[in-house]
Amino acid sequence: MKNKLIISCLIIGMILLIPNQTYASWNNFASLNYEGIASSNTSKDSKKAFKMEYPKMNIPQLEKKYGVTITVEEGFWPKDSLLQMMDKIYSRFPDGLIKEMTSYYKSKGIKTNIRFIYKQTSLGGSFSDSGKHIYLNYYPNPIGNSFAEWTIAHEMGHYVHKYINDIYGYEKLKKEWTSINDGLGYKNEGCDKWTDSHYKYFVRDYSTKNYSEDFATLFEVIAGNSPVQLRTMLMEESDLPLKGKIDLLNKILVDKAKCVTSLANLWGRAIPQNPSASTKVTCKNAAELGLIPEGDTFAGLYTSNITRLDFCKLIINLIEKETKMTLEEFVETKGLKKEWYYRGSFGPGGECKIDTNNPFCDTSNESIFNLHSLGIINGISDWRFDPEGLLTKEQVATILHKTASVLEKDSDYIVYEYADKDKISSWAKESVNYVSSKEIIAIGKDNVFSPKNKFTYEEAYMAIYNFYSNL
Ligand SMILES: [Zn+2]
Repeated sequence: MKNKLIISCLIIGMILLIPNQTYASWNNFASLNYEGIASSNTSKDSKKAFKMEYPKMNIPQLEKKYGVTITVEEGFWPKDSLLQMMDKIYSRFPDGLIKEMTSYYKSKGIKTNIRFIYKQTSLGGSFSDSGKHIYLNYYPNPIGNSFAEWTIAHEMGHYVHKYINDIYGYEKLKKEWTSINDGLGYKNEGCDKWTDSHYKYFVRDYSTKNYSEDFATLFEVIAGNSPVQLRTMLMEESDLPLKGKIDLLNKILVDKAKCVTSLANLWGRAIPQNPSASTKVTCKNAAELGLIPEGDTFAGLYTSNITRLDFCKLIINLIEKETKMTLEEFVETKGLKKEWYYRGSFGPGGECKIDTNNPFCDTSNESIFNLHSLGIINGISDWRFDPEGLLTKEQVATILHKTASVLEKDSDYIVYEYADKDKISSWAKESVNYVSSKEIIAIGKDNVFSPKNKFTYEEAYMAIYNFYSNL
């Protein structure tokens, strides 16, 4: 049991980080071999010993996307995993901002370099500026657990700081920023104690090291890996001085950064949101019916894009409401119940020697495994569920259609002539028609379905509400 926990932590730390763009196996939605996975439960001979594989990341493509030069030294971490992690965290910065910054410096003859260095250090990363070169150095080593998603966000935070200093003014920014601290000083100014009220102003103790680290550590929470923490904190205390820092940053970005034109959704799930006017009533009704699970997971989430894991949580909740059984009981009535097991060791180079019947290794959530057993959700490839990935409208339609079929709902549907029917993937056509016919997902203006649009939390609440009410 202890072993299982340790492995999960390591794996989650390392590979929860799959880029949102990879949906390779969705085309094979119906053809993936569920039985193959089930059989490893019953036969000792069919143990799955596997080496973790990551989608091949294309360095020139990433360099172009962000306007940087990337070098990766071979080391403890698999290269593709690091690049995925980088791409994922960089994607949490406002669209186009990183490219805008690197282009700005490029036009001044300054190159931006991202380096993953296999160096024995307790530092997770560093930021340096030599005049002709800017370096974002990352040290992905197994020392001190200092390298993680938030490290990537932190060093990029230093870069944003440099950029804002240049386009807004160093003195002006420093004055406005530090005035938020209500007189609490930094360690480099001789202030060396952490009081009970410091957490309202600073992300962590290291933030008080100096002004520059105060700025960079903010990015650990707005672009790092636990958006729920900051969001719930801001919901509890909306006048938190820390929020004042985020507001100042956002205001400057909207005023000065060319690619940032609106305050909406700048930091995604890290910041509490309100429902749009058009969804407000339905969201409220869905919550009152218990279709949105209570607690921190969904609190304050409306306009940002829903993750695969969170959408599955809504589906699980829906199934439990519809069947008046727990998901586990329902799976059992379908004759698909399995005892999930996961044992093994974790070696150098990301190699896992694992004996498991889990369908995915980037989540340990057994409800997700059960949804997979029901045929409702698939991974994005072998072993990978991609919990943090996003969903398109046609993928959502497919999941809802599968759910309806598992719940033995009316299966009739009308075939629509959507204005953008050529954009709907062939594997999703039936499901798109189904969710339109049952008015689960509304057809847009001018008869457009927009199958590739990302689905938001509020759209998900509406769809679940409609499913529950109409079927
Ligand atoms: Zn720093």
